[in-house]
Amino acid sequence: MHAQSTTTLHDEGPFEQLIIRGVTLINGNGAPPMGPVDIVIEKNVITGIHNVGFPGVAIKKEDRPQLKAGGKELDCEGMYLLPGFIDMHGHIGGEAQGADWDYVFKLWMAHGVTTVREPGGRGLDWTLDLKNKSEKNDIIAPRIFAYTVFGQGSDQPISTPEMARAWVQKNAKNGADGVKFFGAAPDIMQAALEENKALGLGSACHHAQLNVAGWNVLHSARAGLTSMEHWYGLPEALFTDRTVQDYPLDYNYQNEQHRFEEAGKLWQQAAPPYSEHWNAVMNELLELDFTLDPTFNIYEASRDLQRARRAEWHEDYTLPSLWKFYQPSKVSHGSYWHFWGTEQEVAWKKNYQLWMTFINEYKNRGGRVTVGSDSGFIFQLYGFAYIREMELLREAGFHPLEIIKAATLSGAEALKMDDKIGTVSIGKLADLVIVEENPLVNLKVLYGTGAIKLTENNEVIRVGGVKYTIKDGVVYDAKQLLQDVKVMVDQAKESEGFEIVQPGIKGNE
Ligand SMILES: [Zn+2]
Repeated sequence: MHAQSTTTLHDEGPFEQLIIRGVTLINGNGAPPMGPVDIVIEKNVITGIHNVGFPGVAIKKEDRPQLKAGGKELDCEGMYLLPGFIDMHGHIGGEAQGADWDYVFKLWMAHGVTTVREPGGRGLDWTLDLKNKSEKNDIIAPRIFAYTVFGQGSDQPISTPEMARAWVQKNAKNGADGVKFFGAAPDIMQAALEENKALGLGSACHHAQLNVAGWNVLHSARAGLTSMEHWYGLPEALFTDRTVQDYPLDYNYQNEQHRFEEAGKLWQQAAPPYSEHWNAVMNELLELDFTLDPTFNIYEASRDLQRARRAEWHEDYTLPSLWKFYQPSKVSHGSYWHFWGTEQEVAWKKNYQLWMTFINEYKNRGGRVTVGSDSGFIFQLYGFAYIREMELLREAGFHPLEIIKAATLSGAEALKMDDKIGTVSIGKLADLVIVEENPLVNLKVLYGTGAIKLTENNEVIRVGGVKYTIKDGVVYDAKQLLQDVKVMVDQAKESEGFEIVQPGIKGNE
């Protein structure tokens, strides 16, 4: 696994000593960039952060940390180094999508994601097995935090508070890091959340529309939920002149177009920004130290379907099985564009503005906002979508440094792991991202496909793409990981005779 080659760094380390030389450090705590800096790592722990000079001035050799015998140097002069990214909403790979863990992990790691919170996948045992292998660095994978979907593994539906408590206890005993809820009856949510909190586990909730009339985000937060996912249940907490969303009378929740189209009108039914009720809800969530994990990107097709559908990475990195899963269908989750048009997109653009205003102000008042992707649905590809999420936080009003904080320290805090990860600090684990371009200037340099740039000679090039992802002191060549994914996709296409064509245009049906 850990080939000790000096020329190609596909996967190398950990080292007795690794010195990363000459980087500009962009830390996860909101500090401004600083460099040149030498970072010293011993095995999987950061042991030194040395300020070695000033920009534009040659570095004096005597000021630098010395390489020990058997140590390894990585010359990264002029590059940027950040803490490893944390994806707070990363499904490792649904069976329906045909995206197996190897494919998904490489896409994440190629984009600097070194930790992922898995909000319910193919079952706890499956996730724990991968978590375990990742911990030992037996596989190329981020650190994994395993949340079980509430009720998963139970032989009957959880229908009483007693059953809820028993399930939560068993889940903790089975080794889960938390619970992912989709909502339930109030007495069951109350019992499950209380019990889970008492056990010290994390929790996440996608407040599905079926239960929000009686139990919204505020109820969950009061009962002990630690993070909300997406946004459902928040506008409902902000209602002042209704108790249920203004559903058309022929609405059917099982119709995905109904679900997504009406959701696009929801924020406009909530209390307006900075109104009394809006402020009261926000302030109560802040007092509860509640985490918001908006996953903006996963709804982006709602406001611009063509953008999501024609993203340039699909051709090289999207598996045929995923592409097929994304197609409009009455039976696939999230494939809701039965007839998705101008009206729906415009409504969603307004929806986003109100939603983003809440998220940005929550951050401004000291609230914790994290970066989560929820990839594998609605044309959002693992890794790439994480970077898109950062761009959408920028659109919401975050300073790029606030985005890096959300992607690193805030995620670590939400996972109660900020003593080990989330910033580049002495004593913390060596989970790092190195990129040749400054991501604060242009977040697009973090995309695996890089950012478009015109050179002085009028030549069009791509710059950026993460260069190295370091997890636990093991150095991965991020571009090589991406190349591995391309080979997987090429092979799948070849064996199926598959080519990407756009919906409704004849070709692959
Ligand atoms: Zn999800």
